[in-house]
Amino acid sequence: MEFDIDTLKAAASAVAREQNLSKDCSAGGVGAALLCDSGDTYTGICIDASCSIGFCAEHAAIAEMLKSRRTRVVAMIAVNDRGEILPPCGRCRELIYQVDKRNGDTQVILPDKRVMLLRDLLPWHWSANKKRSRERGEASARRRSPRRA
Ligand SMILES: [Zn+2]
Repeated sequence: MEFDIDTLKAAASAVAREQNLSKDCSAGGVGAALLCDSGDTYTGICIDASCSIGFCAEHAAIAEMLKSRRTRVVAMIAVNDRGEILPPCGRCRELIYQVDKRNGDTQVILPDKRVMLLRDLLPWHWSANKKRSRERGEASARRRSPRRA
């Protein structure tokens, strides 16, 4: 699915307006927009709170998308309230991938409007390593079995 970076960026920028809610909490310093395979765009804002209980704008956008029972993200972007494009943090990369493994093909818009696939931002993914470890474990268990018998 083709998409326009500037349109997606405008959707994220439209919600990225920092609001100071209290001395311990602000929101909207970052806005995110996800283009779903349905063609719909979902947005979210971050909440920055003391004690690490806030979350990223991408998390909020994912929750918004899931309300429509959609999981496949075609493209995504996050911007701060100055309009600067921010790459997703590791936790957001992981969350988007876990929501739908097909999201390895999500086109992530990075600073300077560079576009990379999510899977390329998650090299040596732990679940692939887990699978490889399990395979190695099974193989070594098979090798050990004859010696134990
Ligand atoms: Zn994040």
